Amino acid sequence: MSMDARKLYEGKAKIVLATDEPDRYLMVFKDTATAFDGKKKGLIQDKGFYNAQISARLFQVLQSQGIPTHFIKLVDERTMLVRALDIIPVEVVVRNIVAGSLSKRLGRPEGERLPSPVVEFYYKSDDLGDPMICADHAIAFGFATPDECIALRELALEVNSILRPYFLERGLELVDFKLEFGKPKGAEVPGAGAEKQYPARSRLILGDEISPDTCRLWDVGTGEKLDKDRFRRDLGKVEEAYAEVYRRVCQTA
Ligand code: UDP
Repeated sequence: MSMDARKLYEGKAKIVLATDEPDRYLMVFKDTATAFDGKKKGLIQDKGFYNAQISARLFQVLQSQGIPTHFIKLVDERTMLVRALDIIPVEVVVRNIVAGSLSKRLGRPEGERLPSPVVEFYYKSDDLGDPMICADHAIAFGFATPDECIALRELALEVNSILRPYFLERGLELVDFKLEFGKPKGAEVPGAGAEKQYPARSRLILGDEISPDTCRLWDVGTGEKLDKDRFRRDLGKVEEAYAEVYRRVCQTA
């Protein structure tokens, strides 16, 4: 079957393809980049390769530490075989250091260290520009149940406590990042009373990607930005930043 016939979804940075197995998808990482709700568009040479490789490595690290992820294997340089998920429309952001929208919203200087990680929820909606929400909104509008909201926060903090030292050992400060979670596609929705037997924590699976597109990473020694902010803010040396993160994350033991 052609790639078009298998295409389920084409996003800003990835294409999702069906496979012969209904519970498996292919995720193809593209070189296209967007910022500011798609208003800025561009191409970052080999980004698809770097992000597929970096995400694969980070998913393996997380999986080995007990975080369930959708990652199964890389099938080529920029294509990942993953478990098919129903994505929860809540983007979970974890912040260790003030940057980006937090800096703007609360008037804090970029680089201010937070005393403990801050977790934020955003409603995943391109039309609305991913507005920030709180758990009560997620519950009220049926995006997630109360126990799922708790599990999203707990899992995101666990991911942070695994990835932060992993990056630090490679000379990278994990400033902030965004995660998306889902439930296995077509899985039974537990009825009343089933929540105890199937706690949200054991149903949720980490999906999407973890890459310099979705993380802010600063060089520990120089503070140099090695992430998508180089593209967003026209800082130059964009490809070089992705290549450097790839080198540090994937070419070290
Ligand atoms: N982020 C993302 N996708 C989004 C919004 C944010 O991957 O749709 C990531 C972003 O790369 C950063 C973190 O989440 O690592 C926090 O982003 P922020 O809220 O500061 O928004 P920004 O100013 O980057 O749009």
